[in-house]
Amino acid sequence: MPTAPRTPRRSLVTGANRGLGLEFVRQLLAHGDHVVATCRHPARANALNRLVGEHPGRLHVLPLDLADARSHAELARELPLVIDGLDLLINNAGVLHSGERFGHVPPAQLDDSLRTNASGPFLLTQALATHLADGGKVANLSSVLGSIGSVEGFHTPSYAMSKAAQNMATALLARALHERSIAVVALHPGWVQTDMGGSGAQISAESSVRGLLQTIDGVRLADTGRFLDWQGTPLPW
Ligand code: NDP
Repeated sequence: MPTAPRTPRRSLVTGANRGLGLEFVRQLLAHGDHVVATCRHPARANALNRLVGEHPGRLHVLPLDLADARSHAELARELPLVIDGLDLLINNAGVLHSGERFGHVPPAQLDDSLRTNASGPFLLTQALATHLADGGKVANLSSVLGSIGSVEGFHTPSYAMSKAAQNMATALLARALHERSIAVVALHPGWVQTDMGGSGAQISAESSVRGLLQTIDGVRLADTGRFLDWQGTPLPW
């Protein structure tokens, strides 16, 4: 997919206190973007708060618990106080409960995964839709583990089901926002060296996010509703 040069934009990243979310914030700031970074506990987000000091006026940290719809509404109320609209919403925050075996999948873990990984990005996008600029973009961090066409074994069922549901949310949001020329895509970041990716992961967060941002830059309205990896390669649903 061809990539276009990036111009500074107004971006919001969820789960921005660590992992891929923090790297998104670093690279967006390096490019000159105005960034709203959200996380559950801003007072404890030390790395993010250091970045605020390094980029005065261009980085704002706001609280958001993706699993709580009241928190979405509160963010929608607070957003205009720090930024005038959004060009890019990155639904990055997610949870993976590991070690689940068939016959022993805890209902609470399935509920938490669905609420955080599927309902969360859908409801947050709905709550922030009026703040999204026409022609903007929404990037939902999905996973190849949510690809029904790529299922190989009984791996991480709560996570896999929640990302598959998120993929449907992406397809539906793409339709809902098309008339405003807002492109919505599902993105697989690769197997990345973060707390979630663990020690066996092959790709650095820096490389993954660089590729993801290039992929986002290359997304046009004609690409809305697509499922792409961090190098822009289409994935099966
Ligand atoms: P990490 O586990 O390193 O970080 C997860 C982030 O999500 C943290 O900031 C965490 O906040 C936040 N989060 C979790 N639950 C909530 C919630 N209820 N409300 C707000 N924030 C929450 O994950 P990665 O950075 O590796 O993953 C980022 C995205 O990429 C996820 O959506 C993940 O599914 C996806 N992905 C990652 C892969 C990988 O190999 N790393 C592979 C495929 C997809 P807190 O610190 O408060 O817990």
